[in-house]
Amino acid sequence: MQMLQTERLDELRRLFHGEVLLPADDGYESARRIWNGMFDRRPAVIARCLNTGDVVTAVNSARENDLLVAAKGGGHNSAGNAVCDDGIMIDLSLMRRVSVQPESRTVRVDGGALLHDLDSETHRHGLAVSGGGIVSHTGVAGLALGGGFGWISRAHGLAVDNLVSAEVVTGDGRTLTASADENADLFWGIRGGGGNFGVVTSFQFRCVEIGPSVYSGLIVKRFEDAKEYLAFHRDYARWPGHGISITPPNHTRRECT
Ligand SMILES: Cc1cc2nc3c(=O)[nH]c(=O)nc-3n(C[C@H](O)[C@H](O)[C@H](O)COP(=O)(O)OP(=O)(O)OC[C@H]3O[C@@H](n4cnc5c(N)ncnc54)[C@H](O)[C@@H]3O)c2cc1C
Repeated sequence: MQMLQTERLDELRRLFHGEVLLPADDGYESARRIWNGMFDRRPAVIARCLNTGDVVTAVNSARENDLLVAAKGGGHNSAGNAVCDDGIMIDLSLMRRVSVQPESRTVRVDGGALLHDLDSETHRHGLAVSGGGIVSHTGVAGLALGGGFGWISRAHGLAVDNLVSAEVVTGDGRTLTASADENADLFWGIRGGGGNFGVVTSFQFRCVEIGPSVYSGLIVKRFEDAKEYLAFHRDYARWPGHGISITPPNHTRRECT
């Protein structure tokens, strides 16, 4: 740490476009906070990245100074792994761009984006990424790297099923594309392996058409009718495409395709 606080820290600052925060700096206290307030960890440095180049600089600095690394996406993980004591927190929360390609029904999203950043942009095109979770302030990165289960997953799969490619900064400071055709083993690893293979700076997902109106809500029934309604739900919630046609008890007939 002594080395980092002298010329190595100057080197990090010189190459960095975002913010480099030390414990005495304004913004350090809020930047180290994560969703699970039970964790009160204090990194030696917080590197608030603006682009992939910053992530490379931060990873190289961590490796050269033998520092523990914690990558922060949305900071929503209940295990608190987005923040560490004494090491370097590579904070991607300033990297939240989302770019939809409606023609190919794909979307590119930065590694620090939250679900509502992603959903609000895709929704403008009548699209959604299946596997995006149910709480809008969850991070896309941690969710997708762990699998990613959301509202429409039963019909369209997990986030990792819909991942086309990712840009990954590995521990040796290289920037790699991971896809079925390029670095396929890395692609396999990041689809469920969490942040253990590198820092993901962007993801490209396949989208499905949905909306623009989406209906949702609670259905509350009497306990005595549970058997009847659970049987109805079992049939109604079958995988789409089976073309089932059912009449729920005490309801008007509906078609479910
Ligand atoms: C209230 C709540 C609701 C949830 N709902 C759902 C849900 O509906 N569906 C679902 O699938 N999951 C859900 N989860 C779980 C959630 O997906 C995970 O906690 C996920 O890790 C959060 O991602 P994050 O980016 O916000 O987390 P972070 O805390 O930032 O990171 C989590 C892990 O991923 C690593 N990481 C983060 N960003 C990157 C990156 N860019 N590159 C490499 N590694 C990175 C971190 O180092 C850490 O190990 C929920 C969690 C909570 C607390």
